[in-house]
Amino acid sequence: MMRWTRRKWLKATALAGSVGFWKKAHGQFGWMKPQGGGQRRRRFVPVKENNPAILRHDMNCERCGDCVAICQQVQTVYGHGKNPEEHECIYCGQCTAICWNHGVTERFHLQEVSQAIREKKEGKSKKTFVAITSPAVRVTLGEMFRMAPGTNVEGQLVTALKKLGFDHVFDATFGADLTVMEETAEFLEKLDAPDVPKPFFTSCCPSWVRFVELFFPEFRKQISTCKSPLRMQSAMIKSYFAQLQKIAPEEIVVVAVTPCTAKKYEATLAGEIPEMDYALTTRELGWWLMEWKIPFVELEETPFDSLLGKGSTAGTIFGNTGGVTEAVLRTAYFRLTGKKPPETFFSLSEVRGLEGLRKAEIDLGGRTIRVGILHGTGAAREYLKMAEKMPFDFVEVMACRGGCIGGGGLPTTEIPLTDSLRAARMQGLYATDRESPLRMSHDNPEIQKIYADFLHSPGSETARKYLHG
Ligand code: SF4
Repeated sequence: MMRWTRRKWLKATALAGSVGFWKKAHGQFGWMKPQGGGQRRRRFVPVKENNPAILRHDMNCERCGDCVAICQQVQTVYGHGKNPEEHECIYCGQCTAICWNHGVTERFHLQEVSQAIREKKEGKSKKTFVAITSPAVRVTLGEMFRMAPGTNVEGQLVTALKKLGFDHVFDATFGADLTVMEETAEFLEKLDAPDVPKPFFTSCCPSWVRFVELFFPEFRKQISTCKSPLRMQSAMIKSYFAQLQKIAPEEIVVVAVTPCTAKKYEATLAGEIPEMDYALTTRELGWWLMEWKIPFVELEETPFDSLLGKGSTAGTIFGNTGGVTEAVLRTAYFRLTGKKPPETFFSLSEVRGLEGLRKAEIDLGGRTIRVGILHGTGAAREYLKMAEKMPFDFVEVMACRGGCIGGGGLPTTEIPLTDSLRAARMQGLYATDRESPLRMSHDNPEIQKIYADFLHSPGSETARKYLHG
């Protein structure tokens, strides 16, 4: 019975939501059909042993084929490479969100993190533990404790992480604000540059970037050079924050708490500039709280720590598809005109919603910018195949349907992952933005301070060294 229900909602909602748009707009939906020529149909998605984000647990797998359906038909990854038998994963974790038997899961970081914190509590280590929490976590973690989807548990989340043993808890909206500052400057610079092909693509979603690298490498140079918000914020914690606190960067352990399994891959990327050490999915945090018997629902509220903790709600809406675009347009308007954008910029209906592709022409004080918003790599594939027929200046792509509020590492409960669940989570983030006095990244006093003290200006040499990859 359960399996039938899951199949039903997968086909009726996840597929239909994306396909409907393409069918209407272009009269085609060929990407729904299994790809890969005469390839034998697999009943599970193969996962390489060295996959940094995803694990397969053969003994739990019932060969139901749900992971194949979501990976091949919705995300258009499995079976779409040159060699259909050689599966290259984009780490989005949509297979882990759909598998109720734990046949496929995230690569767990929970044990290592909880062990390291336990050692500190026992006096065996003096490391400083810093947690950064992504916007989508605050409107989804409550689902694991039977709270209504979209309930904002930001205050309890900070208290819970402090109780678990973190010394500092920062809001990743600060990293999102940094991304807005850098990405806006880069976009406006490239907008008028001769010989720079259009459109300019966002880079905050690592799975989208990997999707392009694997399937459409000809577009790679058009993706922003900005690191993801969590990578930017981790780099600032291990440099600027470490200097201020007089702590050696190697004595700081940065743990991202995120909706995203691809952040586990990002935790392996740090090179010369130290970044995050671990990434816990929202699910892992929920399991940890349950294991340590922390009464999450009853916790009092604590604000995020400041000095890298304060973010604007332009950063908060990053969790929704269209949120990056809306945040960038608010700051781009200010950069081009020197004025606060009109009220319409604080609820841009054209870029909001769950259509597979949304497009808009936005007037930035006399300059019209053509924007496109895509979510789900299936929709991105269809767009990239016909990009020249849809000229845009700026295109936002998030690999998961709905954006990060549909991330692969979010709670899987008895509530089916339908578009109404995604919409409730999205409304949770938009409500936070509506009620906020700080709705533009460039107005964030901590952003102004870090540029004055350390980064100088968006796109400066220091900013490029720490914030671009
Ligand atoms: Fe991760 Fe968000 Fe991209 Fe999904 S949309 S892969 S959660 S960054």
